[in-house]
Amino acid sequence: MVMSLRSKWVVGLVGARSCASARALFLISILFWTSFSGLQAQSASPGLPANSRPFDFYEHGPYRPELPRPSDFLGYQTGDFLTTFALYESLLREYQQHSDRLRVFTTGQTPEHRTLYLLAVSSPDNLAHLDEIKEELGKLADPRKLKAGHELDQLIEKLPIVVWLSYSIHGSESAAFEAGIQVLYQLLASNDPALSEALNHTLVLINPCQNPDGHERFAAWYNAHGIGRPEHYAYEHQEPWSVSGRLNHNFFDLNRDLVSLSQPESQAATKAFLQWHPQILADHHGQTKEFFFPPPALPINPNLPEKTIIKWLDVFGKSNAEAFDRYAWPYFVRERFDLFYPGYWDSWSSLHGATGMTYETDGGGPLGYKWYRDDGTVLTLRGGIAKHFTADLATVLTAAANREARLRDFRDFFETTLSGLRRKYFLVPVKDPEAVGELVSVLLKQGIEVSRTNAEIKLLHGTDYVGGDAGERTIPAGSFLVDTSQPYGRMATALLETETPQNSEFLKRQDELRKQNEARGTEEAKQDYEFYDVTAWSLPLAMGVEAYFTDEPIRTDVEESVDSVAYPNIAVHNSKGVEEETFPNDRPEQGVAYAFEPASIAAMRMAISLLEQGYRVDTSNEMFRAAGKNFPRGSFIVREERNPATLRQVLADLSGRFGVPVQSIHSAFSDNGLPGIGSEAAYSLKAPKVAILVDEPVTQTSYGLMRFLLERKCGLDAIPVPLENLTAAALAEINVLILPDGDAAHFKKAFNDKHLDDLHDWVSRGGVLICIGGASEFAADPDTKLTSSRLIGSEEKTDTNTEKAPSEPRQKPARPSSTSKEPANRKPIEVPGAIVQAKVNRDHFLTVGYDFDALPLFVQGDGFFKPSETGANVLTFEGEKLKLSGFFWAGDTEQLLRGTSALIDEPIDAGNVILFNSEPGFRMIWTSTIRLLLNAIVYGPSQPRESGD
Ligand SMILES: [Zn+2]
Repeated sequence: MVMSLRSKWVVGLVGARSCASARALFLISILFWTSFSGLQAQSASPGLPANSRPFDFYEHGPYRPELPRPSDFLGYQTGDFLTTFALYESLLREYQQHSDRLRVFTTGQTPEHRTLYLLAVSSPDNLAHLDEIKEELGKLADPRKLKAGHELDQLIEKLPIVVWLSYSIHGSESAAFEAGIQVLYQLLASNDPALSEALNHTLVLINPCQNPDGHERFAAWYNAHGIGRPEHYAYEHQEPWSVSGRLNHNFFDLNRDLVSLSQPESQAATKAFLQWHPQILADHHGQTKEFFFPPPALPINPNLPEKTIIKWLDVFGKSNAEAFDRYAWPYFVRERFDLFYPGYWDSWSSLHGATGMTYETDGGGPLGYKWYRDDGTVLTLRGGIAKHFTADLATVLTAAANREARLRDFRDFFETTLSGLRRKYFLVPVKDPEAVGELVSVLLKQGIEVSRTNAEIKLLHGTDYVGGDAGERTIPAGSFLVDTSQPYGRMATALLETETPQNSEFLKRQDELRKQNEARGTEEAKQDYEFYDVTAWSLPLAMGVEAYFTDEPIRTDVEESVDSVAYPNIAVHNSKGVEEETFPNDRPEQGVAYAFEPASIAAMRMAISLLEQGYRVDTSNEMFRAAGKNFPRGSFIVREERNPATLRQVLADLSGRFGVPVQSIHSAFSDNGLPGIGSEAAYSLKAPKVAILVDEPVTQTSYGLMRFLLERKCGLDAIPVPLENLTAAALAEINVLILPDGDAAHFKKAFNDKHLDDLHDWVSRGGVLICIGGASEFAADPDTKLTSSRLIGSEEKTDTNTEKAPSEPRQKPARPSSTSKEPANRKPIEVPGAIVQAKVNRDHFLTVGYDFDALPLFVQGDGFFKPSETGANVLTFEGEKLKLSGFFWAGDTEQLLRGTSALIDEPIDAGNVILFNSEPGFRMIWTSTIRLLLNAIVYGPSQPRESGD
């Protein structure tokens, strides 16, 4: 065993440059592991395989007596109880007082006001020079600050390697949190020579709990009910919907949030990461059958330097394997978790120069303290903790042993980025300045440098995101520029490129799987495809930003770097130069009325705020003319005569706060052929009173997204209501109900006839029912009679039972032009998240503010909607080329999707049923679709009905 151990360590050291300290560390690591084997002869139990040994958390002594063992301080053995975050903080304070190897930083706060920490663990000497180390790591990561040469070599010779260990991003994966406690104790208290020597060369940064709010929800629930029964039917294995400790307070999955960085936990952790420049990152999870560690599955994001990435993942994978083999623990690599989507911690950190790894352990979480495996043996939380713990110690030692070689490759990552990338992306804030502002602020949070042009730039070969052809372009002054020849150029490319190419070997395998599935009988189980997450996320497309890119050199004298950007300060531009728009900060002039345009979330917030405060606001579905100016459809009119005297001051306050200009209107007279503000086309808006369906059958993250974007993004307090409380009386109090995404079959099971009858009555009286994703699929079921749309591939029923079918349309439905050829009626193969071009029906109130013909949309799954025959098809998939980015199944997706609807408005008497094919604002990446939802909420309940119907 010792021989094989040595040989693997030698493999682990391939590529390490020879230097005295690395050699010393290598030998000492060997000693660390061989001391295990020495013990083994005495303690191996007869039932264990010959090469295994029993596990003990405290076998790396001697330990410093001034630091209490976690079990002594907490009062229970590891894995016997879940440590609450509050208790963890007490332990941390204790260690902070008594350890010279620990510095504690706070990085932010969770939505529930818990503190987010970053712990620096290293030798006292390294800790005394932390600021210096931090600054030097910054130089290492930016070849513009420090060129190759003697000084760089000296830095690499002396700098510690930085290992980032983060725990409990999914708060219910309990083994990770407990493992973080054990690892912290071990690193602080162990006087084992190998560990102590490793800390002389390693700075370990620990994010002890990335999701304290979710962890605390789960721990409180499980501690109350967990008694350690391994039977799968025990209550302790059935985490309630409302607990969902995996998610943060806003019910977001933080390990998908690193593209938009929408959550405070993601913002705090990434900000710290960008300051410290770690070389190694391990993110700890716990929901697999056996332990997983890298190398990962295909595909790997092509913006990563694959050879170096694989080289180091192999080094760490093999050292973990070695450590696990000693205990005869099974594990798996390469099977499931990929490095493709940049919004997970492993791929995100890799795109920022680190060796990013996901560690998934097997015990704990919903499996509780104990869980029967299928062979009758018992999996334990303690075992799950032990595995994370073992992998982490191996990781720290491996990092220390490979310090210099890994630092050199880290430096090389940035050098090759600066010298190898030359693409430039331009973001033009003419069509939608607010969206550009959102995108720029995401890029800045990612550490990406953005500049702004102060003169017009002419491109010979500028490629349009949607058109795709390179040609002469003029980029107006005031546009934002991202030059990928910068330290985080790879990440910039990963976020901005129109398409992230897929690995061909991976695609070939998916085709094979498809062939095998197609050969199987209709009732035979199908194999899963291996797409682990979405295949497209191009930010300019998802956020609705006009953008171009080029590889040609451009003038360098026209840029100014940008530090921050906020919507009200984004200039409106023309080709002559930048014109800063000024916003009123005092009361608008006295008029008969005031008007403002609707084409931003900020303007919608302003309208909602006025309505919620009881002010009377009108709008029109047609363009109108006032104060010598054309106002687009959906613009808001606030009349002096019908509102309290406070109106002018309130408008001034809101206009200053949201950056939305307000126009004073002195006369209702229109000076041209367009209607004026007194037109009969104008109608008054009802204040929205919105409820969101919560709990089963809704998906937690979809509920979370709806609540978050209405509450935090749009300033609208929606009421979460569970289905059992959704009575006729409750419905009578609201005018908008949102059914978030969920499984359509579960919706059907949950909604009984009474619920459906109540819903129909409420919609008929003027309610607006907004269905998202799977809820829309449920609505398209003929039995619900909520829409005439049906799913592609659904079995048509004969229309013998039509008494409850939607009544005659109030407005002429806009039918997609290409539906003369009906799409084939077979079930599509699920799409793994792609971006698709949709055609915008510009006459419909849902598209107010979308005054362009096409909008890129997110498509996922197999819910494709046939056009409604009785309602309006507001966004439709038509045209020559549908796919803008991501993966489509050849001969299936495009053919079946063409001619279908992405957004449907189905009027039923005085109300509307509105169907979204996917989540507006998905993961806060698809922000271009948020206003569609707001339009449904703001204009939906007040839609005028023609009296002649
Ligand atoms: Zn997880």
